[in-house]
Amino acid sequence: RTVYVNGEYLPEEDAKVSIFDRSFLMADGVYEVTSVLGGKLIDFDGHLARLERSLAELDMAKPEAFDDLLAIHRKLVELNGIDEGMIYLQVSRGSAGDRDFVFPDPEVVKPTLVLFTQSKPGLADSPAAKTGIKVISIDDIRWGRRDIKTVQLLYPSMGKMMAKKAGCDDAWLVEDGFVTEGTSNNAYIVKGNKIITRHLSNDILHGITRAAVLRFAREAQMEVEERAFTIEEAQAADEAFITSASTFVFPVVEIDGVQLGNGAPGPVATRLRDIYLDESLKSAI
Ligand code: PMP
Repeated sequence: RTVYVNGEYLPEEDAKVSIFDRSFLMADGVYEVTSVLGGKLIDFDGHLARLERSLAELDMAKPEAFDDLLAIHRKLVELNGIDEGMIYLQVSRGSAGDRDFVFPDPEVVKPTLVLFTQSKPGLADSPAAKTGIKVISIDDIRWGRRDIKTVQLLYPSMGKMMAKKAGCDDAWLVEDGFVTEGTSNNAYIVKGNKIITRHLSNDILHGITRAAVLRFAREAQMEVEERAFTIEEAQAADEAFITSASTFVFPVVEIDGVQLGNGAPGPVATRLRDIYLDESLKSAI
């Protein structure tokens, strides 16, 4: 596989980042994941805009190649022959050649930019879209700026492991009695024709897929309510689902051992997945 590091396209074995890199020592880095379908980028503009915002919120300099990111994404897709899969992009504050809590001078220390591809044949046709997924709930003990897409993913990773141990697929995070989001996705419930998902704030990541799905839902005359909900309300809902760049829309069919409806993916989640795939493929670049 060919990867990109700071201006160079290299075989993955030859790609190197300093052990003093602040993403390695302090999780001082931000990232984006963009899906590829039919060799094209899904929601690229949204991911780029969010990257710019994450960098600004952390006073991190844009990498020199910021304006070339679309070209770099396309080149990696081409070099690696990606038809279905994803591109991972990470920007870190770079390496000052020492460990120090104080941010290095951005005039001296340049950000580290890394991109790589992952091929995922069958991404659009995932079995989980047909069976639905099972989730558990766990306490949300993450930091208070979840709207910034940082590489601090230890707790989400632990959450996935807790879900796996419980024979489930993912965990929904709960704070002060209300669901914030999934470990790596936004969370929704459906009551009748109404889609309910938590409002945007610093408490959740502002999902690019979330924005697109809510837009398509409103265009299709579905009602959308942006507010917090509890696990109990979710368990009593007609349907539930998650969204993310790597799953698109996955129906949720069980929450903490309670089956939703008849345990099969519901019509709203299924329809939204179809619309999302159709529309985002049309606008893929
Ligand atoms: N919330 C969290 C915590 C996530 O990690 C992700 C995926 N990166 C999402 C939501 C979904 O965001 P997106 O639709 O932009 O992938």
